[in-house]
Amino acid sequence: MSTEHECYNTLDLREVFGCHVFNDSVMKERLPKEIYEALHKTIEEGTRLETEVAAVVADSMKEWAIEHGATHYTHWFQPLNGFTAEKHDSFLNVPLGADKAIAEFSAKELIKGEPDASSFPSGGLRATFEARGYTAWDCTSPAFLKQDSSGLTLCIPTAFCSYNGEALDKKTPLLRSVEAISKQAVRILRLFGDTESNRVTITCGPEQEYFLVDKEMFKKRPDLVFTGRTLFGCKPPKTQEMDDHYFGTLKERVAAFMKELDYELWKVGVMAKTKHNEAAPAQHELAPIFGTVNIATDHNQLTMELMKKIADRHGMSCLLHEKPFAGINGSGKHNNWSINTPSGQNLFNPGKTPRENAQFLVFLCAVIKAIDENAELIRASAANAGNDYRLGALEAPPAIISIFLGDELNEVLDEVEKGIKRDVNFGGKLDFGVPTLPAFQTDKTDRNRTSPFAFTGNKFEFRMVPSSASVAGPNTVLNTVVAEALCEIADELEKADDFKAALGDVLSRIVKEHKRVIFDGNGYGEEWIKEAARRGLPNINNSVDSYRAFIYDKSVEIFEKHHVYTRTELESRYEIKMDKYIKINTIEAHTMLEMCHKQIIPACMRYSSVVAETLTNLKATGLPLDTQINEEILLEVTSNLAKLNRSVKRLEKAVLKSETLEGNFVAQAEFVRDSVVTAMSEVRKYADALEMCVDKEHWPIPTYSDLIYSV
Ligand code: ADP
Ligand code: MG
Repeated sequence: MSTEHECYNTLDLREVFGCHVFNDSVMKERLPKEIYEALHKTIEEGTRLETEVAAVVADSMKEWAIEHGATHYTHWFQPLNGFTAEKHDSFLNVPLGADKAIAEFSAKELIKGEPDASSFPSGGLRATFEARGYTAWDCTSPAFLKQDSSGLTLCIPTAFCSYNGEALDKKTPLLRSVEAISKQAVRILRLFGDTESNRVTITCGPEQEYFLVDKEMFKKRPDLVFTGRTLFGCKPPKTQEMDDHYFGTLKERVAAFMKELDYELWKVGVMAKTKHNEAAPAQHELAPIFGTVNIATDHNQLTMELMKKIADRHGMSCLLHEKPFAGINGSGKHNNWSINTPSGQNLFNPGKTPRENAQFLVFLCAVIKAIDENAELIRASAANAGNDYRLGALEAPPAIISIFLGDELNEVLDEVEKGIKRDVNFGGKLDFGVPTLPAFQTDKTDRNRTSPFAFTGNKFEFRMVPSSASVAGPNTVLNTVVAEALCEIADELEKADDFKAALGDVLSRIVKEHKRVIFDGNGYGEEWIKEAARRGLPNINNSVDSYRAFIYDKSVEIFEKHHVYTRTELESRYEIKMDKYIKINTIEAHTMLEMCHKQIIPACMRYSSVVAETLTNLKATGLPLDTQINEEILLEVTSNLAKLNRSVKRLEKAVLKSETLEGNFVAQAEFVRDSVVTAMSEVRKYADALEMCVDKEHWPIPTYSDLIYSV
């Protein structure tokens, strides 16, 4: 590959890591001590950032960036379109009358930007007369240098708000949700005698799945180019049946890509750790070392961006779509999540003492309660048009929210419910003495790959998250619902006269009321769907229905109570999500129609005329057997072609009808789901049938076999 890639061989990864990040050690080295300490306090404790401090930081950041060769800076943010946005300004300034340039970057420029952001979706939040959006520096996520053909740019992670302070991005609510859960978690810690911790951190490690296909093949598929997924294609004779791809040896081309990706991620401080082949051919995964959820979210956005960019350099295209190929495993993002105290204690670690055990049980039960009470909201947080082809559609995981705990914890919870104390000798005097709580240490080997929400020893793994989505949304919801559960528990325990007795009661009640959400069996089985229905668990198999959970009164109440979203912000998100659903499917429908009209139908017609011509010749020479075969083939092609043509007409009609519903996003989204998407699957059915009976020489687009074995 590139010479740059070969250069990596001489690099020491310890020196590469973070070399493009204005991180803590750089700040410590370059900032005056009092400025560093003030900033550190803001980052660690959330104290207000003074302008004088920001001015010094801005100057130091600029100098550092310029020394590294940067010419521009940008406020880097995540608007509601799901991507990251940046607008580059150079550091250049030429004072009036001067002929020499100076480099300038003020506190104001660091702290606040005013991009004209009228073209980002706002769901009605930003009236056009106040089109301006404001970006505000998020000093908890370090600034970094991004490298591309335009050179090096200083990227400053920012939040993005409207003039009235409404969040127009994904970061602001995420930061608010961290505050919310932190506040409630501290209340619980206090009850257990922790007088030190003033906040907790939420950690996140998102495992990213993706596909790689050859770029030339990709370019020949308008569906991949326009929609990121294949809208046509028969399943090849062999995909993942032999389990030979999962953890298989990396192909050279993929290995070269991964190597460059690792180095580029390390430079910007992303802790890329694990890489391997995934279940499907051409599918891979990258897992980072977990970090605070805010940084992990930014890093995941960077990871996706770099995956695309670097794949391109290696002559490949990276597909982040949830379901690029029908009938073959899709991609998700496993969102590993936990809560930690400032001293580094993971609150989902059962710990070694009964006191730690009891505290762990509170946090565990809070999660169980939160997930059960807000299952629909959790489901909605992982919904998008692409995930509709996975969740509840015969693929991992099902659309039903359940929690996997493993045998041992189930046993423990059973005892908690019944108020049984387990007789375990910890060998110390640290008896916390809640008479009804069992003591235990969990076994981390329990695993269940079919659960959407699994406890994996010391963290929860939310496995529904769409591969292409920002993890900000799911974590915002998760933090908030758990904050509410912790809040309710704390309310009760704080006013209890007998704390230990109250604790036993609260936990026992939570287990009793919410154990229906716990399921350790096979989440993919038909049986579970029936069982979940018996338990009264929601099973929502499409985005349109699931998004409604964002505006349930119950959801609005929780989000407003914890200052994460206002009702207006939630309504705007609901509208944006529905609108995006409509747009994605409409683009897919148009792409399908274009491919049918311009590629598939003409190709099939050419092929059928070749067969017809052969048939005419055969009839003239009078060879009966060949004549019959040709007649059969011709019949199959022409009858499927006729059906395809009719289904195309139906799809055209559905698309037109959908347009008449514009302005009523609920009606339109429902119509798109019920009529457009259904019409699309009809078109696909006949086109795929044609692929099977048309000569490959005549088939106008690369097939699944071509694509998934292309690198
Ligand atoms: P597995 O899911 O197979 O058990 P790991 O335990 O290595 O694999 O973790 C997978 C991902 O979870 C990694 O990205 C890892 O950094 C992350 N992770 C591990 N511990 C935590 C934690 N306490 N909080 C958040 N993420 C975590
Ligand atoms: Mg995992």
